[in-house]
Amino acid sequence: MSTQSIPSVKLLINGEFVESKTSQWRDIVNPATQEVLARVPFATAEEMNAAVASAAEAFKTWRKTPIGVRARIFLKYQQLIRDNIKELAAILTAEQGKTLPDAEGDVFRGLEVVEHAANIGSLQMGELANNVAGGVDTYTLNQPLGVCAGITPFNFPAMIPLWMFPMAIACGNTFVLKPSEQDPMVTMRLAELALEAGIPKGVLNVIHGGAEAVDLLCDHPQIKAVSFVGSTRVGTHVYNRATASGKRAQCMMGAKNHAIVLPDANKQQTLNNLLGAAYGAAGQRCMALSVVILVGEAQSWLPELVEKSKTLKVGAGAEPGTDVGPLVSRAAFDRVSSLIERGVAEGAELLLDGRNVQVPGYADGNFVAPTLFAGVTAEMSIYREEIFGPVLCVMHADTFDEAIAIINANPNGNGTALFTRSGAAARHFQEEIDIGQVGINVPIPVPVPLFSFTGSRASKLGDLGPYGKQVVQFYTQTKTVTQRWFDEDEVGGPVNTTITLK
Ligand code: NAD
Repeated sequence: MSTQSIPSVKLLINGEFVESKTSQWRDIVNPATQEVLARVPFATAEEMNAAVASAAEAFKTWRKTPIGVRARIFLKYQQLIRDNIKELAAILTAEQGKTLPDAEGDVFRGLEVVEHAANIGSLQMGELANNVAGGVDTYTLNQPLGVCAGITPFNFPAMIPLWMFPMAIACGNTFVLKPSEQDPMVTMRLAELALEAGIPKGVLNVIHGGAEAVDLLCDHPQIKAVSFVGSTRVGTHVYNRATASGKRAQCMMGAKNHAIVLPDANKQQTLNNLLGAAYGAAGQRCMALSVVILVGEAQSWLPELVEKSKTLKVGAGAEPGTDVGPLVSRAAFDRVSSLIERGVAEGAELLLDGRNVQVPGYADGNFVAPTLFAGVTAEMSIYREEIFGPVLCVMHADTFDEAIAIINANPNGNGTALFTRSGAAARHFQEEIDIGQVGINVPIPVPVPLFSFTGSRASKLGDLGPYGKQVVQFYTQTKTVTQRWFDEDEVGGPVNTTITLK
């Protein structure tokens, strides 16, 4: 394809999809084929400021839009996403690499948040206490903040933008989104559908770029809150920078999620669950199970775990029957390969080596097949770093409490899972484990939007998580109103010199 014929990704500013005037562009590359699908601009400061200005202008009217009007837009939006889910999944697979069923899952988990946003009337309701003093009532208003910003990672380019802007906008805010520069195409299609659903001009804006765009959003005086999802390194920077200028910030960050397998667990169910959670989406999930601790006699399951790992089919995400697609980029491929190398050098037992896998018809893809290390210790790089590839680290513990202690000593707190048939063991785990999202025989316990995403410790900065009830608090300011009304015929009451209301 000549440079001229490569499509460009547009900016969304004030209700218009516009071509950037920047001179800085980056290719969006199909990770299975290396085909250049499109070019994404790194927006100029002028364009980014125009996006924020249009959001600030739109806020003046959007903040007072009736509940029913806001809710109906999201009712229509969920239907449009549902009607277009195959197309959205195909775009996502082409630019990101995950399999088509997994890409549909990515869209679907975001769609669930849109459905929830349609219920904003009851979610945003305040509280009222009658007669807090004689003739006095106190009630709360949960009012929108203003312009909010979202910065999203490459690994869920549909779900994570949908964690953010629907809830922020449903609460009466306006929004500037900066998607991952690696795979913004599905996000842009979702933005088109949002406008089709009736989101007014300026209420949703999308800019593209990298570190400079992120810093502008963190510093901009008209932005009131920043939601970030991505790596711990960048998230820590975003949190510090956004809060330094007085903004609210919530940052969901990197992880190292462990499963504990007790010997009484349902063996085949457990092994199948481990494979899906470790190698699905090529391990590029913040909730992937990348460490398994086999306790006591469950250690004898290791050979079967290795054999089952070999059965997964590696291939292009668009090919039917693929279990493990390519890594998102050449850089990710090189990083994962070098971490495998380091695992070997540091003495872990490489029982399954997924490097050098050949995928017929896709010689240039960024493929790494399921890889399994045993004998992993807490000092090794493959344990300390988030590999973000299809690499499973197996550890051993003699007792259940020893396994719990390993997990609690790890700084991350995104997710964990226990496999057992014992209710008592499950309850002990739930009480003792210091991780924000816990699965009992559920490998990837990401909550549905009736709840919030509740990663903890080093996996999160800020008190409130994305979606669910917590995000309504994040995207609103509570105003408490205390009011009293005097009867016309009540005249000349006492001068009130104390602060006590009676
Ligand atoms: P990333 O941190 O590299 O990128 C995230 C965003 O930050 C992107 O929009 C990117 O453009 C921007 N960015 C990159 N470098 C920057 C810099 N130096 N300064 C400012 N902004 C910068 O993350 P990624 O590689 O796209 O995504 C994978 C990471 O995200 C993993 O660590 C994964 O665990 C994490 N993640 C966490 C969750 C969660 O809910 N906890 C969910 C999904 C992904």
